[in-house]
Amino acid sequence: MLKALVTSILIVGLTFAVTQSALAKHHEAGEATADQPLSLEALAVAFGWDLQGAQITAEKIDDGLYVLFGVGGNIGVSIGEDGVLIVDDQFPQVMEKIEAAIDSIGGNGIDYAINTHWHFDHAEGNNTLGPQGTTIVAHSNARADMAKGGLVNLVIAKYRQQAYPKAALPVLTFDDRMQIHFNDNQIDLMHFSPAHTDGDAAVWFRQQNAVHLGDVFNNSGYPFVDVDSGGGIDGMIHFCQQVLDAVGPDAIIIPGHGPVTDTAALARYIYMLTTVRSRVADMIDQGMTLQQVVDAKPTANFDEVYGPETASLGFVNRVYTSLALQ
Ligand SMILES: [Zn+2]
Repeated sequence: MLKALVTSILIVGLTFAVTQSALAKHHEAGEATADQPLSLEALAVAFGWDLQGAQITAEKIDDGLYVLFGVGGNIGVSIGEDGVLIVDDQFPQVMEKIEAAIDSIGGNGIDYAINTHWHFDHAEGNNTLGPQGTTIVAHSNARADMAKGGLVNLVIAKYRQQAYPKAALPVLTFDDRMQIHFNDNQIDLMHFSPAHTDGDAAVWFRQQNAVHLGDVFNNSGYPFVDVDSGGGIDGMIHFCQQVLDAVGPDAIIIPGHGPVTDTAALARYIYMLTTVRSRVADMIDQGMTLQQVVDAKPTANFDEVYGPETASLGFVNRVYTSLALQ
């Protein structure tokens, strides 16, 4: 069990640790250039995702609440007398295994699926669940983004997310806050500002005091700020701080990627974001170009914790771009 858990953490940890060599191989093969979107298959290779062979592992957070690790974003699962509610749903290719994992922990079918945002590695499973009758819930901007599809600019690569058909779209949406009363839980969906995208939801399970932050909080490396989707560094800092203030110091923190953690890790993440933001802002004030800022390595003293910035989805690039747009 421990080995399985460690393996799953390693797999999740690889999510954004894109090897430059994997992408270089695609360039050599002429499959894509930096300006051409990669196919899902090519992106999966670059990210180390095995869509067919992936195993789903379950970690119990507390009574009635689990996190499933597989390929793509972490899945929160509430199980109880009312049924099953999940947060994020990965990919159709792994849905049978997700459903089997939910069965093995006492569920039977998925009644509700909340999407933390519109990105494919968190919402693509809607294409299976929606037509099966699962009620899908998301922020109103996330629904709009899913409905129109678009180019996800990952900086080191691009991916064109197809527009989702009506059956895969959320049927319930919210703007700032929404409550779902399910399995003797009050589940708060909270949106404070554009952060990772323009339509992020944090999902707070009050009974267990656990909150799923989607990709607003990445616990497997530096985060991706999807500026082209309306995300921004200032909003990301604000969103995280608002969540931390709401849930208090004892909450369990479920990140979009990486292992489940605590509020101390979230506080350290906010400190890192704030420090890097301030350094990049100063460099912009000094008239430095994007390349000069990247070369100055404003994350250097955090790399030991968050990994090499060069393995991120252009973290400094996106912080700079986000600030330069203001
Ligand atoms: Zn995302």
